[in-house]
Amino acid sequence: MSIKVIVAGFKGRMGSTAVDMVKNDDELELAALLDPFAAEKEIDGVPVFTDKNDLIGFDAHVWVDFTVPKVAYENTHFALEHGFRPVVGTTGFTQEQIADLTALSADKKTGGLIAPNFAIGAVLLMEFAAKASKYFPDLEIIELHHDKKKDAPSGTAIKTAELIQEVRNYKKQGAADEEETLAGARGAEFDGFRIHSVRLPGLVAHQEVIFGAQGEGLTLRHDSYDRISFMSGVNLGIKEVVKREQLVYGLEHLL
Ligand code: NAP
Repeated sequence: MSIKVIVAGFKGRMGSTAVDMVKNDDELELAALLDPFAAEKEIDGVPVFTDKNDLIGFDAHVWVDFTVPKVAYENTHFALEHGFRPVVGTTGFTQEQIADLTALSADKKTGGLIAPNFAIGAVLLMEFAAKASKYFPDLEIIELHHDKKKDAPSGTAIKTAELIQEVRNYKKQGAADEEETLAGARGAEFDGFRIHSVRLPGLVAHQEVIFGAQGEGLTLRHDSYDRISFMSGVNLGIKEVVKREQLVYGLEHLL
């Protein structure tokens, strides 16, 4: 039996790439598409919905979400409430929202995944960065994305920072009497270290974690040059969430 998939945000850069991935996998079936601004009623026989409430009772297993940060929580909540297992790439969730959705999934015994980055290389970068921060507590995260990205810092940068926080001994970096003569020059502070967001046309999704110590430095970097880099992770997520009864935050929990 194929896994029936709804794609929310199907007209977007990530959503349209996910649609192609689903169509090209015989184990998956594209069941429905959602975009509040869509004019089409169907595309190649696949129904298009403009209101998520019309999907209540619809026959599908998984809800893939690549929409916009302001609706991601509401969409994921809706998916869990109505028996669709969410596979969410949309970023911008707060820790409280993730905790709330994790509790709801446990209550509903419905699997799900919120992954700030579906690229395997980015998942490895996060893991390596956390490991290195135990030995190199002085670090800065620089994330670089295309200039249409709505949220900053990226979900990947936040997740990286959270993983680092779990193992790094707290340290407030920089000079004690440091002053910003231009507001924001030192980036956003997270647990005593800094996160910087670069937005430029031509970029896709990139991240560096730079470590500094006495007389040495270490730079970890991951680059997604193409959105196809995220699709093996989305595909894995779809196939794993149908077997599970608990939402997880981070692709590493399914690897
Ligand atoms: P995008 O091109 O702007 O696509 C988002 C799409 O969602 C747009 O077509 C938008 O329509 C549509 N939309 C808005 N509200 C909606 C709703 N309520 N229901 C359904 N669709 C809705 O953005 P993108 O580059 O594809 O990125 C989408 C999200 O994925 C972002 O949060 C981004 O940070 C994230 N992302 C995650 C990963 C990962 O690996 N997890 C990788 C890359 C990107 P309009 O344009 O008409 O508003």
